[in-house]
Amino acid sequence: MSDDSQPQGNGLPPKKRMNLRTPEVMKLVQEQVEDHYRSPVVEYLHHTKKYLSANGLTVKLAKVFGFCYGVERAINLAYASAKVFAGHNIYLLGEIIHNPEVNDQIRDMGIKQLKETRGVYDLDGLTEEDVVIVPAFGAEVKVLQRLKEIGCYQVDTTCGDVMSVWKRVRQYRNQGTTSIIHGKAWHEETKATVSQAISESGGTHYLVVFTLDETDYVCDYIRKGGDKNAFLSKFEGAYSPGFDPDQHLVSVGVANQTTMMKNETEEVQRRFEKAMADRFGPENLDKHFRKADTICGATQERQDALSEMLGVEKMNLLLVVGGYNSSNTSHLAEMGEAMLPTYFIKNSEKLISAKEISHYDQHRQQEVISHDWLPEGNVVVGITAGASCPNNLLEETIHRLYEFRGVNVEKLLPADYREIVGLAPAIDTSAAHH
Ligand code: SF4
Repeated sequence: MSDDSQPQGNGLPPKKRMNLRTPEVMKLVQEQVEDHYRSPVVEYLHHTKKYLSANGLTVKLAKVFGFCYGVERAINLAYASAKVFAGHNIYLLGEIIHNPEVNDQIRDMGIKQLKETRGVYDLDGLTEEDVVIVPAFGAEVKVLQRLKEIGCYQVDTTCGDVMSVWKRVRQYRNQGTTSIIHGKAWHEETKATVSQAISESGGTHYLVVFTLDETDYVCDYIRKGGDKNAFLSKFEGAYSPGFDPDQHLVSVGVANQTTMMKNETEEVQRRFEKAMADRFGPENLDKHFRKADTICGATQERQDALSEMLGVEKMNLLLVVGGYNSSNTSHLAEMGEAMLPTYFIKNSEKLISAKEISHYDQHRQQEVISHDWLPEGNVVVGITAGASCPNNLLEETIHRLYEFRGVNVEKLLPADYREIVGLAPAIDTSAAHH
């Protein structure tokens, strides 16, 4: 399916293909999106490549941050669905993207989340007249098939970059190669991807590895064999039904969840390649090993921009804004943590005061409170955000930071820019902007 809703025939008369993104609908959608996520300060910083500085506090933004093309498209289609399918029941498979604020906005428009129990959606009550939105990270083959049988309208927002991974994994499947996915077995995107790795008739397999330690464990097994039961128990929930490490690791193809860390994914590929060469001989490698870099461009650009910022800018601390279950955002936080004090926050409310911040600790998988996080005097704060984070959350974060220094951020913007974006004229023009 393209951008639009289309029939998912099951022998029933097909529904007409509908173009959701007509100019009239998109005009209304753009107005609403603008209204929900408008961010003059962030746009100013982004477009001018400058930074803000006042009362000792300097704020710098990464060159690339926030919404990616896939997320923008998914949000536009969800907003368009609410307009085109007014009067229908509109459901969403899980979350449209991994950002709680955006999901709340979608819910406020009357789009309901389908009930889910232990990862299984309740599709039984759906009718042909209902609309189901498939999120940006896609959905499992069996879910898509069931929706097809029901004959409801589907609005598929699956990102093209996710579909590229599926294509690669289907190639592996068709070649009888086991797909090794570098990703999180519990993440919706990876669940959808692995469902493409197995055929209905069985006989094709996948294994998901998340860490380099897990990679080494599998590579050791490839070289020397080992305790099969221990292997299966270690990777429980991360392999296909009937997977046997003694039989199904003789031909492997590596792909990855689109939002992983680029360098880690490359390392996973290297280690598997080496293990297969050790086991089968370098001269036979092409019969036993395949690989594809399926990190998406948007993830790559955000990681590169942060890497550049960490290398070039002198910063006291980094704020990473985004949903805690967002994979690409969590990797940005990891990159920051390796270099300087980094706080992963989902919105500006987490900046409780200049003395106290509530932030997500990925290792403990919970929010924790840190004290004295914002040094007094001159301080430089770097900010970035994951691909699912709207600019207004960054904007609010910047406002909050300057509140701690008694500064109204909007007044830091140049007068001509304030006029263009419709902000009230500045009274105090003494604060510096750069
Ligand atoms: S992060 Fe990448 S794969 Fe995910 S929606 Fe954005 S562009 Fe697509």
